[in-house]
Amino acid sequence: MISSFVDEAKRLGFLKVGFTRAGRPLFFDEFISWLDEGKQNGMHWLKKHLALRENPGKLLEGCRTVISLAYPYSIKKPYTTDGFCVARYSEPGKADYHGRLRSLCETLAGHIVKEYPESGIRVCVDSAPVLERSLAYTSGIGFIGKSNMLIIPGYGTYFFLAEILTTVPFPPSTSRPVKNQCETCTRCIDLCPSGALEKAYCFDSSKCLSYLTIEHRGRVNRETGEKMGNCFLGCDICQEVCPFNEIASSKDISLPSTGEILEMDLKDFKEGLGKTAFARAGLEKLKSNIQAVRP
Ligand code: SF4
Ligand code: SF4
Repeated sequence: MISSFVDEAKRLGFLKVGFTRAGRPLFFDEFISWLDEGKQNGMHWLKKHLALRENPGKLLEGCRTVISLAYPYSIKKPYTTDGFCVARYSEPGKADYHGRLRSLCETLAGHIVKEYPESGIRVCVDSAPVLERSLAYTSGIGFIGKSNMLIIPGYGTYFFLAEILTTVPFPPSTSRPVKNQCETCTRCIDLCPSGALEKAYCFDSSKCLSYLTIEHRGRVNRETGEKMGNCFLGCDICQEVCPFNEIASSKDISLPSTGEILEMDLKDFKEGLGKTAFARAGLEKLKSNIQAVRP
């Protein structure tokens, strides 16, 4: 069953699949210490449902296994026609990844239900409090680098994570997670433009350009704008400089000019970008980000 499930996942485009017990995530204590230091800033939802985060088994009655899944996003950097860019994950030429990924996971979950008709299933695509990098690490998908990103050796970091919880007690993929391979490298820490990576594995979201340009509700100021360079949504720098991502990358000019975005009203935005990952930030946020990076 497991090999045919993995084959089906690969056929659907997933990069990696890992099975682990639905128990306490390995890095739960580190996560609590990070919260205690207030490093989550405005992401208040991270402090909610800690009992569920501590025990993903509580998210589905009778849950025995967490299946972690890595799905790639384009390595092409999305650009506007006037030379500004956004983070790769946003894939503005496609519908928001949550719906696409959920549909793929549900197709894959159907494979389990076919084999085990009585089984319970729950698909999570950023939709439940799951410590997903920790679980993915334990399941053998990759290692967590000093940037806090999950890294798949031989592939890199440009992928989404999702989970399928199931009552079927699949054996864990591995008892030995992938060894950390950062060694003496500190490129992500040295080259983070805002100092958000304060040291290895230590990340302050209040300084992170991804947080400030997507999740933070306030306006982006000029000082932050200078650190953003020409990128007005998200930030890929700690990924771009990581040697595990050293692959040829090209531009995808799939966005209108920043001037055209600034002139959009809500109706234009909904028609043009409203079904993409840009909806999370919203039009007003997008405009204030653009104003911070335009000369
Ligand atoms: S996303 Fe950008 S600002 Fe945030 S930690 Fe990485 S390099 Fe630093
Ligand atoms: S840039 Fe270097 S230190 Fe940072 S995650 Fe990648 S390999 Fe590790």
